[in-house]
Amino acid sequence: MRLPALKISYKVLILVAIPLLFEIGLVCFISVLISDSDQAMERELLSKEIILRAGMVARDAAQGAFSVGTYYYTQSDFFKEHYLNDRKSLQENVNAEERLLLKANKKDQLERLKNIRRLSTDGIEMMDEVMNDTDLRKKGQTGFISQNSLVAIVKSSRIMHALLTETQFVMRNESVYRDQYESITRKAKERIRLAVWALLLSLIMAAALAFPLLASINKRLQLVMQNTRKVPKGEALAPRLKGGDEIAELDAVFHDMVDELYNAQKMKQYLLSMVSHDIRSPLTSVQGLLTLLSVGTLGELNSKGKQRVTATEAELERLIRLTSDLLDVERLSSGTLQMEIKTMPSSVIVATAVSALETLAEQCCVKLEKELLNLDIKGDKERLVQVMVNLLSNAIKYSPKNGVIKISVERDGDMALFKVRDQGRGIPPEFQARIFERFQQVEASDASEKGGKGLGLAICKSIVEAHAGSIGVTSKQDQGSTFWFTVPLSEGKET
Ligand code: ADP
Repeated sequence: MRLPALKISYKVLILVAIPLLFEIGLVCFISVLISDSDQAMERELLSKEIILRAGMVARDAAQGAFSVGTYYYTQSDFFKEHYLNDRKSLQENVNAEERLLLKANKKDQLERLKNIRRLSTDGIEMMDEVMNDTDLRKKGQTGFISQNSLVAIVKSSRIMHALLTETQFVMRNESVYRDQYESITRKAKERIRLAVWALLLSLIMAAALAFPLLASINKRLQLVMQNTRKVPKGEALAPRLKGGDEIAELDAVFHDMVDELYNAQKMKQYLLSMVSHDIRSPLTSVQGLLTLLSVGTLGELNSKGKQRVTATEAELERLIRLTSDLLDVERLSSGTLQMEIKTMPSSVIVATAVSALETLAEQCCVKLEKELLNLDIKGDKERLVQVMVNLLSNAIKYSPKNGVIKISVERDGDMALFKVRDQGRGIPPEFQARIFERFQQVEASDASEKGGKGLGLAICKSIVEAHAGSIGVTSKQDQGSTFWFTVPLSEGKET
């Protein structure tokens, strides 16, 4: 399902707000239904109570009439007592029925109630008359059955009959109401069930609608992520994302940023090629001229002139080295430096580097010792010599007078392990990983006192890694350092 090109926040708002409103509506509807159903249930219960009370009224009336009649004939106090109880219960139940019917508030039933109350009062009056007359007879105050009593008995039985008929009417009417409320409750329950299903369905729908949005957000974010991974490799980015959402905006900003970055890189390349051709070449020519001057080919110089030429030569040498280092670092990191991989004995690397630095070592009163296992290695001779020269020249620079530098080569699995161990000041642990990054020096004074700009080890690292090897250092402060690097053996053979 394709969603229109809206902002993600709007899409989320729509996807959340619509089901939410629908669900709020449903919840309100359900609560109204529950309240209706509660009311109907309550009314149904009231009807049941009215029916029950009406039955009790009928029962009390019938029992009362029976008890007073039996008392009249037997003059037994047992029946008098029963009558008095029934009389009391009849009054209470009529009162209770009245309360219930007033609560139910049905016109027809209230009319019936009036009759019930009138008939029960009249009936009690008649039955009391029979009871009083019986009491008098019992006490011997009247020796015969009075005319009044007989009339009262007949009247009360008629009244009671009418009362029974009225209560039956009330019960029948109320049964109709009870059935009505029962059906209302049933329907309300049915509707509640349907509404709950609708609620569940709406939740499932909301989840189903959210899924394509999440999938599209995920897909677009994946594209942005893939682009970010392409930048370090210098690869072309995927085309800009379509649409006007936040991810498309992010992608557009990212594309602009990367375009700027690539332009800056092009500028840097241009600058570096300019440095290499337009600065380094004239510097080398000047160096040649200075050499001619210092050896006297262009005429003898006085001692002051010689001194100045030598100092300028050293400065120029430093400048040329710095430009070479900068070019190397750039070419290595951009992968534009071509390697000429060949098989050669490891001793060649060590010997070439040592012979290049022998004079410097002598000048610094440092001894170079070799512990060599000669292994056939695969690599670019010139670049590996550059690594060795760098490590050795550092070791010489940081060795104490009369210090010994041990150079060793050993086998380490499929690799040849080169080590340069010195007795210098060592490298603090927090610097041991950092010094292989560009422009990192342990002491601020290293640049001025020892020369260099913190590029040598970064170049070594790039060269070694270009050979699929690794480089590192183990060191204890004031006890010297061991710089090591590995390069692949030529099919693992020893010579
Ligand atoms: P630099 O051209 O400044 O020597 P490097 O990258 O070769 O640059 O070295 C970086 C820093 O590491 C040096 O400035 C120095 O502080 C430290 N370092 C390198 N080799 C040694 C060593 N053998 N002993 C002590 N410190 C060293």
